[in-house]
Amino acid sequence: MPRPKSLLKKLTVDVAQRSHNCQHVPSHRIQQGDKRLKVTKDRTDEHYCVTCAVESIDAGIRRLQELRRELLNEQP
Ligand SMILES: [Zn+2]
Repeated sequence: MPRPKSLLKKLTVDVAQRSHNCQHVPSHRIQQGDKRLKVTKDRTDEHYCVTCAVESIDAGIRRLQELRRELLNEQP
């Protein structure tokens, strides 16, 4: 069986080289040296602050668990 495909290739964590606003909630400020989530969409990168990134990751985990349960006919 081939290696499982990752659904999450377009997500990486990097470190901001300069300060800028979070691209999910512009009032969130990412400082130089802060970790951030890099999301690559159509060859452009968006960067989210840790707060927004963790929220998205948690929502993603819940969604993936739902899909997994649905595929395996498991009850929630
Ligand atoms: Zn944010």
